[in-house]
Amino acid sequence: MDTPVLLGEALQFFTLALERAGVENARCNAEWIFCHVLRVTRADLILDRGFRHLSQKEREKLEKLISRRAMREPLQYILGETSFCGYEIETVPGVLVPRPETELLAERAADFLKKRKEAKILDYCTGSACIAVVLAKFCPGTNLYAIDISENALEIAARNLRRHSLCSRIHLIKGDSLRAAEWEAPFDLIISNPPYIPTGEIERLEPEVSRYEPREALDGGVDGLDFYRQIAEQAPEFLKKDGVLMAEFGDGQWPEIKNIFEQKGWEEIISQRDYCKKERFFIAKYFKNLHS
Ligand code: GLN
Repeated sequence: MDTPVLLGEALQFFTLALERAGVENARCNAEWIFCHVLRVTRADLILDRGFRHLSQKEREKLEKLISRRAMREPLQYILGETSFCGYEIETVPGVLVPRPETELLAERAADFLKKRKEAKILDYCTGSACIAVVLAKFCPGTNLYAIDISENALEIAARNLRRHSLCSRIHLIKGDSLRAAEWEAPFDLIISNPPYIPTGEIERLEPEVSRYEPREALDGGVDGLDFYRQIAEQAPEFLKKDGVLMAEFGDGQWPEIKNIFEQKGWEEIISQRDYCKKERFFIAKYFKNLHS
């Protein structure tokens, strides 16, 4: 018969395994996985670690998930969900893991929408639909159209809409340009967190990203800016006169992005910084629009 294993000992053992695999914040990662498998809170883990023994089944399940993490699979894929602006978003392989920086973009967009009773929004490259879900929840008078090229992502996005009862307010569209939603134009807001990693840099990113996240959600072309060129060109046609564009971008890309949008006649192009004080997203207007 197996000797019973104490929770605290197992936690230490698996933390070490994650440390050896080069996982940052190994203890924290192990705790999240324990909480998920044992269906307890972190406080329970701490209180029970010297008393509770693990069943064979629990140990097997823990071992399976810890070894996935040791292979450097993102924690969010292993847990199957992540919190985005306080809403639980299903996060499984096939969509980009929602990032805290993107929460800032969504919050800023929500601020802009508060001033409008009704608004039509286009979320380009929606992925898990995290941005669309949060805007729909924060701003009740809005209707959203969310585009993605990936069938797989759209299926996961659809599950997120069902989970939050938003199927009637967010319309998912398959496409690789803003034109996929042209029948719904003009929009009050076009928002996007497009792929922005230069193709050649993807392999150099941490294994969580390069090995596991969908390449089509990361790859922004040779210089990472393909999507911004496309948006700068197309968005004026689809934006109301007093509408705005908001989009996230990568480290160091701001000067080039500003240039791309200025060249296309955009105005009031303002960057915003993230938690690390890095320029991370921008807001822009296009006053020469046809629509009012
Ligand atoms: N909009 C999604 C997010 O912010 C997906 C972005 C993407 O696939 N590039 O996480």
